[in-house]
Amino acid sequence: MTNPITQNLDLLKRAQQLDSEIYHTRLLLEEIPVERAKLSLELENEKARSNDLDKILKDIQLKLKTKELELSQKEGQVKKLDGQLSQVKTNKEYNALQQEIASLKADNSLLEEEIIRVLDEVEAAKDEARKEKEKFTLVAKSFQGKDDEQVSQEKNLQGRLIDLKKQRDEAVMQLPPELGELYNRIASKKQGLALALVTGDVCTACQMQLRPQLINEVRLGENIVVCENCSRILYFDS
Ligand SMILES: [Zn+2]
Repeated sequence: MTNPITQNLDLLKRAQQLDSEIYHTRLLLEEIPVERAKLSLELENEKARSNDLDKILKDIQLKLKTKELELSQKEGQVKKLDGQLSQVKTNKEYNALQQEIASLKADNSLLEEEIIRVLDEVEAAKDEARKEKEKFTLVAKSFQGKDDEQVSQEKNLQGRLIDLKKQRDEAVMQLPPELGELYNRIASKKQGLALALVTGDVCTACQMQLRPQLINEVRLGENIVVCENCSRILYFDS
């Protein structure tokens, strides 16, 4: 009586090795879109931050323009009133006009102080916008490189996967059909690990202690024996 497992052990081990590589290659492939999405998000966030800071700068610059316009209008008013001073007839009118001018000038000096403050704000906002733009440029540059790397990595892995599957199918096809089918069925459920080595009285795949009778059957090798716990094909290394 020939043992179907020991007779085909090299092929089974080879298929299992290939299945395990296929499994890990698939995991690596699944990570690529996740990684690319992360890179895109980082780039978008940086772009959004840069746009926000540009908008803040524009708002402050607009505020500055409004204040400067207001000041120049009020300075015009002061000039106009100054000109009227020589034309008034009475002391009362003269005093009233001077008061109005003094009040406008007081407003203007406050406005000038405000303009100086806003100028400082503009400088600070410009500085922040510039720094963020530099950061965005750096991220954008490294994004392209990193994304290209992911794309080429994906291509490599896809090529490798095709190659592994071909080798794997070739190995399984050399098995007796019944054993090949069983192997396929278990491997697809067990992430590519259909075989389990028995060491002592333990299935090394699931660490379950096996019944002595089951171990005897594995030793006898007349039939294919599977672990009662994890359903993998049991074998002894000779
Ligand atoms: Zn097991």
